[in-house]
Amino acid sequence: MTHQANTTTVLDAPPPVFIASDLYRDAAYGSNHPLAIPRIGTVVDLCRQLGWLDTQTAMESPRATENELAQFHEPAYIDAVHRADKSGISDRALREAFSLGTLENPVFAGMYKRTTTACGGSILAARQALEGTVAFSPAGGMHHAQPGRASGFCYFNDPVLAILTLKAGGAERVFYADLDAHHGDGVENAFADDLTVLTLSIHEESRWPYTGTDDLPERRVRNLPVPKGFNDNELDCVMEAVVIPAMRHFVPDAAVITCGADGLAGDPLSGMALSNVALWRAVLQITEEAPGTAVLGGGGYNPWTLARCWSGLWGILNGYPVPTALPAPSEALLRELDCELIDEEDAPESWFTQLADTPNDTPLRPELLKIVEARARC
Ligand SMILES: [Zn+2]
Repeated sequence: MTHQANTTTVLDAPPPVFIASDLYRDAAYGSNHPLAIPRIGTVVDLCRQLGWLDTQTAMESPRATENELAQFHEPAYIDAVHRADKSGISDRALREAFSLGTLENPVFAGMYKRTTTACGGSILAARQALEGTVAFSPAGGMHHAQPGRASGFCYFNDPVLAILTLKAGGAERVFYADLDAHHGDGVENAFADDLTVLTLSIHEESRWPYTGTDDLPERRVRNLPVPKGFNDNELDCVMEAVVIPAMRHFVPDAAVITCGADGLAGDPLSGMALSNVALWRAVLQITEEAPGTAVLGGGGYNPWTLARCWSGLWGILNGYPVPTALPAPSEALLRELDCELIDEEDAPESWFTQLADTPNDTPLRPELLKIVEARARC
């Protein structure tokens, strides 16, 4: 009986949904910014080349309305982003009041449309998750944005809006997992006093924004700062000993995952050393536990590891076999990419020819075990 019920559930689950927009192919963030690299467009192209995307499963991202943004963001800040985009002017007042027009959060043409589209994609992903599916919106995951200011390359906090959408749609308990290399501070702050949302962030210790050191299970704020060189065995251990037990104890109605690709080996803005295979496994473990999940992107500043990670993730979410070698057009696409922060001479051939990384099987380190033992308590 139980077996039959499970089989029915699996058969009835709607297929995963991919949410994106061609808008992300436009230049953004000015020049000399870590996010001024091809990202979402390459993911879409790779998925298409692999036969993994068709019109049935791909949805165009809508734009979030001002009212939707205002569920979390202050009206004066929303207005400031809008005005700065229109005028192209960034002055001292804007920098001081809203952290806009800084090197970190530059004012660039199309900024408002681009960032509100990313929010619309995450809101749509949450609505799909309420229907019991897994929805992937790789342009989302801007987890550092604060109610009244930009922070860490993030202008509007789409993971927060996704969680609010789930709650408004009837989810009584929402699980948020942040697998980005940096602490998901904006999301944690938003729900630190809300026991209906469990936020959990795995991030590199002593790395910007330098928060996320405290683990507060009783407040449903979980943090796992992990050492530099964080490897596949260590992520597996954290998932098994902390993340999945915490999730099972909480019994969420839906989940949101920020799946930054900056924890992968080769990322210029982190010292973590995961393979994409380990990250895929972790995401899948969460989506299999949750009734519905919005999977969002996040950081990721190496265009080769990012594109291969997120397109492979889409394949994995669909149960497609990952090819051992990429087809020639995909290899050509990857060879055309460029990144100022990475010396291409250091790039391994596998960044151009394979989708899956070689697993990082470095053994578990004692310092990691200590972190896990201190936290494996609920
Ligand atoms: Zn990050």
